Amino acid sequence: MHSPTGYARPTGPLAPGAAAERSGLDYCGRFAPSPTGPLHAGSLVAALASWLDARAHDGRWLVRIEDVDLPRCIAGADRQILGQLEALGLVPDEAPIWQSKRGGVYAKALQRLVDAGLAYPCGCTRAQIAADHAGRGSPVPRHGELAYPGSCRPERGGLLGRAARAWRFRVDGKGGAPAVVHWQDRRLGAQSQDVERAVGDFVLKRADGLWAYQLAVVVDDAEQGVTDVVRGEDLLDNTPRQLLLQSALGVPAPRHLHLPLVRAADGEKLSKRHGAAALALAGEAQRLATLGDAARALGLPLELHRPAAGSTRADWLARAVAAWGERLALPTTPTAWP
Ligand SMILES: [Zn+2]
Repeated sequence: MHSPTGYARPTGPLAPGAAAERSGLDYCGRFAPSPTGPLHAGSLVAALASWLDARAHDGRWLVRIEDVDLPRCIAGADRQILGQLEALGLVPDEAPIWQSKRGGVYAKALQRLVDAGLAYPCGCTRAQIAADHAGRGSPVPRHGELAYPGSCRPERGGLLGRAARAWRFRVDGKGGAPAVVHWQDRRLGAQSQDVERAVGDFVLKRADGLWAYQLAVVVDDAEQGVTDVVRGEDLLDNTPRQLLLQSALGVPAPRHLHLPLVRAADGEKLSKRHGAAALALAGEAQRLATLGDAARALGLPLELHRPAAGSTRADWLARAVAAWGERLALPTTPTAWP
């Protein structure tokens, strides 16, 4: 990773210029599942899309097990996911890494942000955050969470004698800069978010001692040389926070492609909570049919949806890579979908 060179405040779209000049040769993509259960139809679509995008650009493809939120993880689900990917022919180019084993790396990144004046300890409970909002006017909850109002910023007195519960990232740099992030999504086009208003200074290390998702993702993407993030649209909202962290740590911002979510019949996002069915992977015909379902969800050509009898996974995957490459060019301009 690069050493911090101060906080380079983004002034326009973040890094797409530099990103667009990268050749396919240094493309590196990743699939980063949380082991909260086996893959289901929705998570397989994200896995397949990231694999196809990497292969279509002659890039590397990695798998990272995002198990920082250990209480939510299910024992054995990581191995189950890796086995499912392998059964479908989606094999990473390097050994997978587990975020739960990387606490020391995240600690160093947090220390760099603290040293740069970009992270500070917070002693607030949820109740205190709500009370602070009530004193300032009308709070607007987002996903049921109130934006953090910066109560423990050093210039407001810091912890004021309370114990540190969490560590937070200053979204306004060293103070006063607007935290409006602009970026280009390969499918959705121009995006922006006022992070201070929508989220506030967000958590890097949680009150329960666990590392926050945002810090772990940014540190790992940088260290693994990930150039391209292809993931579900439900994660779109994390992107501006991750871009701010990348800027603060002086690491490159990846390109982003957020995929439409696979929805259940009632229009809800497909998930384990929703009772998404287990993937059918017994035997070659089932595996091809499972890949075909994912191809349909991704809007790939009809002939990939119901593979012909006798076709092999290697043949199917090669045709899917070709179809993906024809449809999705690398530049950051908005792409018609499907
Ligand atoms: Zn606080």
